[in-house]
Amino acid sequence: MILAVSTPKNLASPAGGYRGRFAPSPTGPLHAGSLATALGSWLDARKNGGKWLLRIEDLDTPRCIPEATQQIQSQLLACGLSWDEEIIYQSQRQEAYQAALERLNGQGCLYACTCSRQTIANALIRLGIETPRNQEMVYPGTCRPTTLGIADLNRNPQPTLQDLKRAWRIALPADCHIQFQDLGLGQQSQDLNTAVGDFVLRRSDGLFTYQLAVVVDDAEQGITHIVRGEDLLSNTARQIYLQDLLGYIRPEYLHLPLVLDEHGEKLSKQTLATQINTQDEKHSLIELRKAAKHLGLRNLPDGENVTIAEWLLAATHVWKS
Ligand code: GLU
Ligand code: ZN
Repeated sequence: MILAVSTPKNLASPAGGYRGRFAPSPTGPLHAGSLATALGSWLDARKNGGKWLLRIEDLDTPRCIPEATQQIQSQLLACGLSWDEEIIYQSQRQEAYQAALERLNGQGCLYACTCSRQTIANALIRLGIETPRNQEMVYPGTCRPTTLGIADLNRNPQPTLQDLKRAWRIALPADCHIQFQDLGLGQQSQDLNTAVGDFVLRRSDGLFTYQLAVVVDDAEQGITHIVRGEDLLSNTARQIYLQDLLGYIRPEYLHLPLVLDEHGEKLSKQTLATQINTQDEKHSLIELRKAAKHLGLRNLPDGENVTIAEWLLAATHVWKS
């Protein structure tokens, strides 16, 4: 059987060289953790003679703070972490995400879901499936049609993709075990069915999810290397699965160790991590040095009379890629 696969809009080409990115959500200014991620991905791009792009992931508009976008840019520049090419804003890319959703729908692998978080929680209790603390609930497939495929969708008309009051989930095949090689952590694997279940690509309030948006943007920006915090490691298998369905090239992944606070918790804007101090070059350099320490970089110039540009050059030299 020949499957018609529409040509993906993918600018990634191995011949084009390394293209990395930093993709902060503007929910607050940069803190020690996000600076370490920014520095790690910047160094990896520079070490590989590549490009480093900045993408503002302002998709979840209720959580975004308008000033944060500007603050993040000023903080990066104050630390000498300048980016190549134009900044992409996810809030302006609805059509691209919708087009990807339509393509997946054309493959007959989406279905509408009206479950609330509570419905899902109740279903899991009924099924005796426990959700460990800090983990997402596995979707138990409550709304999943028993048979999927375009013919079935035609027989039992589904709501159109425009229907905003429903979430759209992707129906995973029975065997959906994803494996990938992380450049730092080595071989990784996740069984999507038991770890996450059919996941949401567009929420019932019409917002596209991070999983879909990040995959579309990384492909359309031709990103070859994704260097980001380890907190995102559990999302990677989902993203690889979507890349495969959409016919995109799989980028390389490097997940960096997280910066933890004194209680061993991940620093985040939610835990009110303090923003980095970039009031002048001296303070910015202090923040960069802390970030480098978190990344495990050694043998960097620690004197007073070193400029940020010099320090970054030295850091690029010691960065292992
Ligand atoms: N926007 C995401 C965050 O700030 C990062 C996305 C990514 O690097 O894939 O956590
Ligand atoms: Zn449902």
